[in-house]
Amino acid sequence: MKYSAPRGTKDILPTESRMWQIVEDKFAEVCRRFGYQEIRTPTFEQTDLFARGVGDSTDVVQKEMYNFEDKSGRPLTLRPEGTAGVARAYIEHGLASMPSPLKLYYNISAFRYEKMQKGRYREFHQLGCECFGSEDATADAELISLLRIFFIELGMSHFNLEINSIGCPECRPQYRAALQDFLRPLLPELCEDCQSRFETNPLRILDCKNDHCHNLTQDAPSPLEYLCPDCQEHWDQLRQLLDNYEIPYKINPRLVRGLDYYTKTVFEFVSDAVGSQGTICGGGRYDGLVELLNGPHTPGVGFALGFERLLLELENQGVEFISYAAPDIFLACLPEYRVFANSFCYRLRSAGIYAEADTSGRSFKSQMKQANRLGAKYLMVIGEDEVDSGSGMIKRMSDGEEFKMSFEELVQFLLTGN
Ligand code: ATP
Ligand code: MG
Repeated sequence: MKYSAPRGTKDILPTESRMWQIVEDKFAEVCRRFGYQEIRTPTFEQTDLFARGVGDSTDVVQKEMYNFEDKSGRPLTLRPEGTAGVARAYIEHGLASMPSPLKLYYNISAFRYEKMQKGRYREFHQLGCECFGSEDATADAELISLLRIFFIELGMSHFNLEINSIGCPECRPQYRAALQDFLRPLLPELCEDCQSRFETNPLRILDCKNDHCHNLTQDAPSPLEYLCPDCQEHWDQLRQLLDNYEIPYKINPRLVRGLDYYTKTVFEFVSDAVGSQGTICGGGRYDGLVELLNGPHTPGVGFALGFERLLLELENQGVEFISYAAPDIFLACLPEYRVFANSFCYRLRSAGIYAEADTSGRSFKSQMKQANRLGAKYLMVIGEDEVDSGSGMIKRMSDGEEFKMSFEELVQFLLTGN
């Protein structure tokens, strides 16, 4: 039996994992600068949490979840996204009593039963932020600015930010009704999914991936035309802040989130590179979520960034990361000095140097080959003289130049690079 990774999953091989680490480290570091702290929640939760928190009428809940029962018959689900679990933890642990706003970030794998495509997997990864406790558009703008700094510092040269406002439970019913009036005559021509969304979640029709539906709804009314005074002020404030930060954006009046607990701001970073899976990052305000999950009324805003899609976009923009660093030094030896070479290697590593020596009984000749293959910057041959004198010659592999020094000097030399 030949085993392979389950459909829709991906191994992250050593050739790629360095890139993942660089992106993860950068994200954590940028989050720290913005006062976002990491939260880690379980990989699976009670199914009902997602049914409520993500929404019964969404594709995610209706079609894409990995549901299972454990041995005692509890209905559980592999998380399809991060926000519901974070909000659950926020409520469960009374985090509302921590200094507010509470700013949290996460780095997770998520699971959705979807058709495999470029940038679309069944296990994928998300970097995300959630900010609990501020109603103000400044919190929304802060998240957008965090993302922009993250993208720039990763080396991206361009990105498209789209924003919109979808109102609140005060004004959305009017918009929803106007949208349904617009859609009603088109209904027979819309795809089956959209037909069933018409009653349950008509806003989602604007987000349909089907080109035909997309074209038919070109002239749909925009939620911006229906904002109540409070939402209008929030929307104006968001744009003023972004203008003030000199963050370019495009208003996309079709940008929606279908669920009732989403309020006001929605935003996306879209790429030209990832094809129809163009959204790298989706975010917005969800002032009703915590209450919906039986917590205290708590405004919130957040985003989730698709890790794999971000990597595709970085590749498309020609951003290159160095792969694993080469050893600073390779210690080659004859068999009788292997113990010494490895123990010296251990000392160098203790001092913070990336040193390599043979651990598999290779001949001297094949150790030299190995040093080359690993791209070691320096080579030292350990033999009787070196062991007796505590010093030796090191050879710079790039040009063959040799330097004589004591083992103590060697540590300094490698640490400082000269
Ligand atoms: P899409 O419209 O592409 O299906 P979505 O609206 O379902 O995306 P969200 O639930 O907002 O996506 O998730 C946030 C981000 O996670 C997306 O913008 C995307 O980058 C990423 N993402 C979502 N689903 C997948 C998937 N199946 N594979 C890889 N990345 C994904
Ligand atoms: Mg989706």
